[in-house]
Parts: sequence; C-alpha cells; structure tokens
Amino acid sequence: MSFLDRPLYRDVRFVDRLRSLHSEPNEGAVERSREKRSGPHAVLVDYHIHTPLCAHAEGEPAEYVERAIALGIAEIGFCEHSPWKIQRPGEKLAPDDEEFAQLVRTVASLQHRYGETPSGPIRVRLSIEMDYVPDRLDRVRDYLDKYPWDYLVGSIHHLDQWGIDHPDYVAEYERRDIAKLYEEYFATVGDLAETGLFDVVGHVDVIKKFGYRPACDLRPLYRHMASVFRRADVVVELNTSGRDKEAGEFYPAPSFMAALAAEKVPFTLGSDAHHPNEVGRHFAEARAMLLDLGVGEIVAFEKRRRRFVPL
Ligand SMILES: [Zn+2]
Ligand SMILES: [Zn+2]
Repeated sequence: MSFLDRPLYRDVRFVDRLRSLHSEPNEGAVERSREKRSGPHAVLVDYHIHTPLCAHAEGEPAEYVERAIALGIAEIGFCEHSPWKIQRPGEKLAPDDEEFAQLVRTVASLQHRYGETPSGPIRVRLSIEMDYVPDRLDRVRDYLDKYPWDYLVGSIHHLDQWGIDHPDYVAEYERRDIAKLYEEYFATVGDLAETGLFDVVGHVDVIKKFGYRPACDLRPLYRHMASVFRRADVVVELNTSGRDKEAGEFYPAPSFMAALAAEKVPFTLGSDAHHPNEVGRHFAEARAMLLDLGVGEIVAFEKRRRRFVPL
C-alpha cells in the first residue's frame, strides 16, 4: 500500500483543517471556490522548515512536526541553512558542520518516531537550504552525498557579500539601481539552476522581500526565467513567507507563477517556517492560486526522486 492510499490521506480535508487553524480574513470568495474543488485526495507538503540551529528560529523540531500533523500536512521537510552561508564576524545565521550533523540525527529520530509505519501520521523529509555562493560550490559538492537527502534546495541570500534578505542590510537597496539589481539577481538565479546541483530553487524572487521593485514590466524576465528553469529541469518552490514581509506576496509573484505554469515548470510548497506557528502558513491560498493556474499537482521527494502528488 502506498502512503497515499493510507486512510489518513483519503479522509483528511486539508482545507477544512487549514481553515479552522488559520483564520485568514478577506478570503471568503477564495474559500468558497476552493470548497467546490477541494478533493479528498489532496496532498500538501511543507518542504521549508527551519530549526533553532540557525539561531533565528524558535521551537523544537518535534513541535514543527506536531503542528504539521494538526494541519493535515502529509510531508514535512527540514530545510536548514547550510554551514557555508556567508556570515559576518560575530553573526550567527546558520549551523556549523557539527551542528548540522546533530540536526541530521534529530531528523532521523523524528522519521523513526512519526513515519516508520505505513499508518504513521506524517512523512519527515531531510533537506538543506544550500546557499548558492559561486565561489563556495566546493562546499555544496562536499555535502551532496554527505547525508541521505530527500531533496536539495538552492537559495540565494547574498550577492557578493551583501545579505539581500537580511533586515540589517536593507539600506543597501537605497544605493542600488533596482532594475540593474534585479538583472544581476535573476542572472545569478539562472546560474544556480544551471549548475544542475539542486532539486529545487528556493524563494525564487526574494530580491523583492523589502518591497524594492523596478518600474519596468517584469513579465518578459519571468518568461525568460521560466524557460531557463524548464531547460534546467528544476522544481520551483512556492514559498508562502513573502506574504508576511514587505513584499506582501508569495515567492514567486503571481505573474511569475503564471509564467512558470505556462512553461510547465513543476512547483513544490514551503512555508519557510522559523516558528511552529508558521508551518503551512497561507497554504489554502497557495493551493487555490495553483489550481487557478491549472496546476493540479505538486512535487514530493524521497531520496532525491520526484513524485507528483495531487493538490
Ligand atoms: Zn532562504
Ligand atoms: Zn529558509
């Protein structure tokens, strides 16, 4: 019996659970249209979960798992920052190698505790949010076979030494030509995809996090990126955290999502939770947006093999 056939997955109404746990105002219309379409076979994954080892998240790993179970999420993936993340002296943004080894052991024990039987309540996946730093790719390669990964996420948090998503360094945006910055950022995202090292591109347009956007129409750029991802055969994460930042919308932007869907680039789903309460955040809305774009499946991973699961 495949885990999708387990009674829990057949019976759980994810949307009902999400609605009861997340009271999101102004969603009445979305809720109604979703209700009609929500099938009993819907399978949600939350593939972007942090832990206190990055020193800017709270809550024990088991608390994140418990929250995901309460939401009816079928799979949870721990996706902690990589030890080679760029950090200034005195800054702590990621676990070191030893701490990462400890996290891998913790995830293994959670897999044993929650998912060892076919009727286990959830699948716990092992991942890593690998920093894409062009001159640190040797570190990426060292980690490729170091642990039994279910999937590898590649993310950009720095351009040169500048931490583009860190609130302490926002002032740098004021000094930049934003249109040029977007070009540089997305060229780097393209390079990331084309390395072929990563299964998933993380928070693909995080450059908008603090609300800095160029005046130009970004749709041609989105179409170009979609074709790059398609050729690189990489999955794009629908990361719901951007909705809670100045950007005010998911990563990727709605018109970027549309370009990706048109190009048939596959999606997976992640909350980028840094607190157990953020697990599965805005997933009902994310699911409705994907369905509206005609995307009826997302990607789940096991030992770096893809599987499409219904939304
Ligand atoms: Zn990130
Ligand atoms: Zn993250």
